[in-house]
Amino acid sequence: MSGQESHVLSGEMHRQYISIERSEGIYLYDQDGRRIIDASGGPIMASLGHGLDEMADALRDQAKKCVFAFRWDFTTPILEEASAKVCEVTGGAMDKVFFVSGGSEATEIAFKLARKYHLDNGEPSRFGVISRWMGFHGFTSGALSMTGFPGRRADFIPYLRDFGHIAPAYCYRCWYNLKPETCDLECAQALEHEILCQGPQNVSAFIAEPISGMALCAACPRQDYFQKIRQICDKYGVLLILDEVMTGFGRTGKWMAYEHFGVVPDIVALGKGLGGGYFPVGAVACTARVAETIASGSGVFGVGHTWMGNPLASAVVVKAIEYLRRHNLIQRSAEMGEYLIQRLKELRSHPTVGDIRGKGLMIGLEFVKDQETKEILDPGLKYYSQVALEALKQGMFLEAGGGCERGRGGDMLMFGPPFIVTRDQIDEMVAILDKVLSVVEKRIGF
Ligand code: PLP
Repeated sequence: MSGQESHVLSGEMHRQYISIERSEGIYLYDQDGRRIIDASGGPIMASLGHGLDEMADALRDQAKKCVFAFRWDFTTPILEEASAKVCEVTGGAMDKVFFVSGGSEATEIAFKLARKYHLDNGEPSRFGVISRWMGFHGFTSGALSMTGFPGRRADFIPYLRDFGHIAPAYCYRCWYNLKPETCDLECAQALEHEILCQGPQNVSAFIAEPISGMALCAACPRQDYFQKIRQICDKYGVLLILDEVMTGFGRTGKWMAYEHFGVVPDIVALGKGLGGGYFPVGAVACTARVAETIASGSGVFGVGHTWMGNPLASAVVVKAIEYLRRHNLIQRSAEMGEYLIQRLKELRSHPTVGDIRGKGLMIGLEFVKDQETKEILDPGLKYYSQVALEALKQGMFLEAGGGCERGRGGDMLMFGPPFIVTRDQIDEMVAILDKVLSVVEKRIGF
């Protein structure tokens, strides 16, 4: 916006934000009609593509029937349908669903659900939630306490309650200086050390993203990492919460990213693509064991938000699942992701491209000063921001961030376009990034 005072409180208060007037497919259009490729689907969120009439119709039709029925006192047919459908796409692994308004609320509810399970299971001393450094679980205080993304925690540390963070599964810069081909999964073993030091009787849950979000831009663990994590959790009676807010609902080429790793969590947190990008909705789903333990104990899960289980959100979830299925978009996310990563690998000729990683349409790039030593670029350059701004200038939005090197620096960006993206559109995105990197590398003296 320019030329008039804005009353919007912005994250970057001195930035001139582009005003988006409409969106369609993988494109956003600004007030002057300029086209911007939404190469990250917002913050890795818009999965179906923008501007679908049938999503708007689903909202309008539900709005005509019922926009609100307080969940504490009522249910609705559409909420029942949405809950059943979410369980269905987990292949029945999850049995009950609690809908909220976004990802942070989902992770907040997830750890409270774990706590409630232990209370009703006769283990009231279990309360701690172990998480990982370089994980992100949201900005509300409970979620931020579990978050291990130093840059996002820094200003709010006095409000946070920490239950212990372990090292991330970050093979490109292994914190143990090991190689995935020969290591003993020390990063997973760290969970056992942490549980033992805290006392298993005090630990309620372990939470992690199956594939890292913005803090490590699509870093994937070794294939057997989560199996080891699952074994450790089971050994000590600790619940496994997987935060699939970014990875869930097809983003990685499967309904749930945990399917890549042959494990099933006790609790899963969902958001972003759950509503296809059409409504603020999140959810927590849990196994029958978790739900039945609470049901046969106190029979009460006494948490709530005014907008929980909202009918409009439910209608969008039902429609999004139906749309994903009808257009075979989960498979498409896997296939287009393969093509995207293969095309992006051609950019390794750029001296700053360090690592290219991810699954499905969640592909991260990490930049370096030196490809051999993996030395990071001078954090003062804000290379990630320069790349993102130059890309925007050239008509492409990319979500970029810094701090992968223990919060001290390290530049990354993430591709996460809608699943409808075509090969030609991917070619265009890669060509723009190629040009952008040439411009920015030259600018900083490569
Ligand atoms: N968990 C993960 C893995 C995320 O990536 C995010 C958001 O980026 C959240 C939780 C928080 O979700 P929301 O921004 O909808 O509150």
